[in-house]
Amino acid sequence: MQKIRAAVCHAFGAPLEVAEVALAAPGPGEVEVTLEAVAICHSDISYAEGAWGGMLPAVYGHEAAGRITQVGAGVERLFPGDRVVVTLIRPCGHCPACASSRPTVCENPPDGRHGPLRTLEGGPLFHAMACGAFAEKVVVAASQVVPIPGAMPAESACLLSCGVITGVGAAVYAAGLRPGQDAVVIGAGGVGLNAIQGARLAGARRILAVDMTEEKLADARAFGATDGVIAGDARPWKAAKQALGRGADAVIVTVGAIPAYETAPRYLAPGGRVVMVGMPHSGATAEYEPVLFAATGQGMVGSKMGDVVIARDIPWMIDLYEQGRLKLDELVSRRWRLDEINEAIADTRAGGARRNVIVF
Ligand SMILES: [Zn+2]
Ligand SMILES: [Zn+2]
Repeated sequence: MQKIRAAVCHAFGAPLEVAEVALAAPGPGEVEVTLEAVAICHSDISYAEGAWGGMLPAVYGHEAAGRITQVGAGVERLFPGDRVVVTLIRPCGHCPACASSRPTVCENPPDGRHGPLRTLEGGPLFHAMACGAFAEKVVVAASQVVPIPGAMPAESACLLSCGVITGVGAAVYAAGLRPGQDAVVIGAGGVGLNAIQGARLAGARRILAVDMTEEKLADARAFGATDGVIAGDARPWKAAKQALGRGADAVIVTVGAIPAYETAPRYLAPGGRVVMVGMPHSGATAEYEPVLFAATGQGMVGSKMGDVVIARDIPWMIDLYEQGRLKLDELVSRRWRLDEINEAIADTRAGGARRNVIVF
């Protein structure tokens, strides 16, 4: 065990406490990564608010990049000194989901109660999302990391771990957008901007963003949206259909707000689908008229982490970034120190930020 500093959640809804904790050395098949950057994702905030339950105390944080500093027994092709992104995707490799190339919905999720973290007194400390990355170092399975180029800025690379793959993957895989189709993206935050980038990469004809402010719609345009509609206006789907000239082939919901989910089908063209990406709190429900789906061949589908396969898709996205075809640097709205994590979380919760990133 070594001592590292981490931001610990002791009580849901309370500020995180930056303190020393104990981290085990990497076991067989694991690597230790000394972090250079970790972004704040809305999922971290939902967990810290108690929206989805879970054990306490806990260390959240799952959108990270850094340098490998130790490798466990049996780890191949990864070495101390390698720079990597760290993801929460830890497939077992042998369940039906993994066997069908859907590792993001692996049926054997890791048990964070038996992870590498302990309190200094030796008590349990939950290794949230198989990462625990609001910390100076993490110990994760080698399958959770993907190498990145030596010169890539860590605060840009870390965004690939969650927000970028989730948004781009939702457009490319879950929505299955094809060239010439039309997309609506509800929410132009850290995930929504990437769904917009994904729709552009897929060759969408028009990409319409829906958000609460003109500032957010301007952000959306900078990332490839062709049109924008203010969510708070009366019947925004009417304005959207007017702008597109028709309904959308895909509506990607990137926020967890129930009104966004309940109105999403109204933007659809016949045969279109709603892609559910934003994660409301457990127990929240939405209402739909099933007849509208049955009568028009429309559908709804959930998308977890963009349905990506990280070993295939993160190198793809790094290539696009290096070619100037995928924006990452522009997603970072502000850099913070670990000691400022509660201020960074408050700024993300306020809704104006694209991505706030803790740098080490
Ligand atoms: Zn996330
Ligand atoms: Zn599995």
